[in-house]
Amino acid sequence: MEQVLTIDDARDRLAAARARGLGIGLVPTMGFLHDGHVSLMIAARRDCGYVLTTIFVNPLQFAPAEDLHDYPRDPERDAARCAAAGVDLLFTPPLHEMYPEPVVTEVTVPALAAPLEGRTRPTHFAGVVTVVAKLFNIAGPCRAYFGEKDWQQLQVVRRMVADLSFPVTVVGCPIVREPDGLAMSSRNAYLDTEHRQAATVLARALAAGVQAVADGERDGATVAGVVRAVIDAEPLAELDYAEVVDGPTLAPVERVDDRTRIVVAARVGPARLIDNAAASGGAGLPA
Ligand code: AMP
Repeated sequence: MEQVLTIDDARDRLAAARARGLGIGLVPTMGFLHDGHVSLMIAARRDCGYVLTTIFVNPLQFAPAEDLHDYPRDPERDAARCAAAGVDLLFTPPLHEMYPEPVVTEVTVPALAAPLEGRTRPTHFAGVVTVVAKLFNIAGPCRAYFGEKDWQQLQVVRRMVADLSFPVTVVGCPIVREPDGLAMSSRNAYLDTEHRQAATVLARALAAGVQAVADGERDGATVAGVVRAVIDAEPLAELDYAEVVDGPTLAPVERVDDRTRIVVAARVGPARLIDNAAASGGAGLPA
């Protein structure tokens, strides 16, 4: 595996790979890599001749009061994990390489960025979409791998690619969970033992919603109520939202169908956690 720090070096390596006839697989991350990230690299390795992973903690997507400066980092371990996953090129640009000047350009997908996460993080997706657009322009035509863990992000990115005709195929990959159901996240590192135990409430709440649907419930508001009640019963969790939405459009649904997604966000002690599942069921949720 090669590691490069500059956009020019990344483009050189990608041009050489293309000249060898290799298709590019891109896995954008913010580092502190876990098995969820690695699953994206493995999917890219399976599909593509040349795999590029990027690690960049993007300040544009953090609000001033958020955890940009505390965001966990472990560059050596991350590089070892990428190498072990078969990544060809690791691109770890410093801040001044990505943003040598203050960024005044913004790419936004307001209709999909406003609900759910957008209500508590109104500037978040503009930051995500802007950096993803930049990474796509650095990578060039490619397949780009994103986790369903960040369901709304995946829809926002898909829509940007469609609306702006980026030469990118977006590939969504399933959520990787801990054995007790907690969705893997770099932010799980913020949890002490007690809060780590309480954090399973998100997956338990989704499982309850999925079970209600399996039992025949089709009313979206009723299913959302089932999910909320589980989170409300956990004293260490503070519910942000629990909603039953159409997967691609994120609009609340009255009747559950096979596109329906259950999405949740809650604060558990120091960590704000998000999770989601297909209303028709999700692998790895607690029984
Ligand atoms: P992040 O480093 O948090 O920005 O995440 C980078 C990519 O990894 C995003 O596409 C995430 O959706 C994906 N990802 C994060 N956690 C998981 C997980 N538990 N399972 C699958 N993908 C994940």
